[in-house]
Formats: sequence, structure tokens, C-alpha cells
Amino acid sequence: MTNPKKLAHTLATVVLLSVLWSTESSPCNACQTDRGLGLSKIKRTIPKLRTLHTRLEKPKAGDWLETHREKGQTFSQYRKSKPNVLSGRRRKLYVQPIGDFTETDNGLISTSAEFLSIYFQCEVIVNETLPESVIPDSAQRTHPSWGVHQLLTSHILEQVLAPELPADAFATIAFTKSDLWPGEGWSFVFGYASFRERVGVWSLARFGDPEDSDEVRKQCLLRTIKVATHETGHMFSIEHCTKYRCNMQGSNSLEESDSQPIYLCPECHAKILFAANCLPTDRYKKLIEFCEQHDLADEKEYFQRALSRVD
Ligand SMILES: [Zn+2]
Ligand SMILES: [Zn+2]
Repeated sequence: MTNPKKLAHTLATVVLLSVLWSTESSPCNACQTDRGLGLSKIKRTIPKLRTLHTRLEKPKAGDWLETHREKGQTFSQYRKSKPNVLSGRRRKLYVQPIGDFTETDNGLISTSAEFLSIYFQCEVIVNETLPESVIPDSAQRTHPSWGVHQLLTSHILEQVLAPELPADAFATIAFTKSDLWPGEGWSFVFGYASFRERVGVWSLARFGDPEDSDEVRKQCLLRTIKVATHETGHMFSIEHCTKYRCNMQGSNSLEESDSQPIYLCPECHAKILFAANCLPTDRYKKLIEFCEQHDLADEKEYFQRALSRVD
């Protein structure tokens, strides 16, 4: 059984912040096709986009970087780490809903799947929903203080997702309606992913009720696509960003996560161009279309400005 401390994760719990997690990446055969930009042009996007971004200030008390010592990862360091990239047969992302979802939840999941396919420029397949009963009682609990129903992340990753990973999957990522916890000593996590196993899971439980109002639905969508892309970014071997405001920043709370953008800093953006072997113009144009359709005005404005820099 994989030691959960060796699994890369995101948006962490409010307790046990001193636990150190390894950020190991799995080697793979990173073959690049002629679809993308090529290494020298990817590198040139970094200075072009830099002035659109602000460097991170000193973290506030309780922020992720105040509680975790992380060095960050430049594009050059990423490339040298032999990262997981879309290659060979492994080019599809699978999304696996687990639990009891309303029609609105299902809409949120399919919209998130569409966003993932744009963000990572690959095919995304949404699997048939699995009932929560695939998770045994021994991997479920009621939180001792809050009384919230929770599912054990390691069981989902190792027993439910990893054995069923399709041969053509780059990764499988699950959504649950229930809250998640990663094991003894932990309180909860929003999401959890394994570089090595190429599986991840995140929960919609803390993102608000999308049935409440259009405003709350939009907030739920933004939170969902943010955690979905952040976790999937980890499966592409991208480590937490420590330099800029960026979707790959670590986060200790919903408040901290809400303050972080959906877009990537120039260094992390270059990692996606490399890992997905895609053109930044195609990607930004599709992101702009998505934001238009879903009324994400601030995000659309950023992608438009970024497009003008790399066009
Ligand atoms: Zn993370
Ligand atoms: Zn970044």
C-alpha cells in the first residue's frame, strides 16, 4: 500500500501542516510531436508574459507558504525532472464521478471536464458515475468534531481508480460529493493526487450549493475548475508555484484558494505547453470562448491580454 505521505497533494487540511510531502515525479518517455511550439519558442513565451504577473508577497499567517517550506520549480527545473507528459498512447484524461449527484452537479462536472480538455489540450472522457458504495465502511467516517461524512482518499486512489486506469489514460481524476480526508491525523482535504499512480480525487463538498443562485453556481464552477486543473497539474508533475500568483500555488483554506487565479504564471504556463505539446494561441482562444460562455469576465480579460502577448 502506498504511503499517503508520498502522494503529492493540493489544498491541504487545516491541521498537521507540519507534515512534509514528497514531490516526486515519475519518469516517462517524453516524446514531443510536431504539434507544439518547440522548446526554444516555449522558453520565449516566459518573458513575453512576465509583465502580466505580480510576484508573491510575504505570506500571511496561516497561508500555505507560511506553513510549508517549498522551493518552487522553474520551467527549466521542470523539464529536467523528466515530468509526466502526454505521450504515446497515454493522452486521455478520464473523469470519474463517485456518489449521488443532482442534475446541476452533473452539469458542473461536464463543464469542468470541458474546461480540463481546453486547459490541458487533450481529450477528456467522463465515465459512468460510480455509487459511493464502492467505498467500504472502513474507508468512510464521520468527522469526530464536525460530524461531516468523509471518504478516505488513499482508498479511492489505490483501490478504486488505479486498478482501473485505462491503457490510453494519461490520468483518471474523480469527483465526489462527500468530503475527503487523507488518513489519521488529518482533518480534511479539498483534493489529493498521486504523480506516480496518475490518479487523483477532489470533492465538491465545500464549494457551496450550486442550486442556491446563479452567483453561487458561478462561484462553485470557478472553485471546481480551479481545483480540477490544480490537481491535474500535479499529475503533469508540476510542483507548487512559489513565485507568482498562479493556479499552482498551494492553499490552506478556501479563502486562500479563492484569492488565487485560474490562470498560470509564465513558468507554469510553459510547463503546460511542454507537457501537452500545444500552441499557446489555440489554448488561449479556447479559454476565452469558455469564459465568454460561462460569464467569467475577469478570467476572460486575463486570457485576452495573454493571447495578445504570444500571438
Ligand atoms: Zn497542490
Ligand atoms: Zn506558477
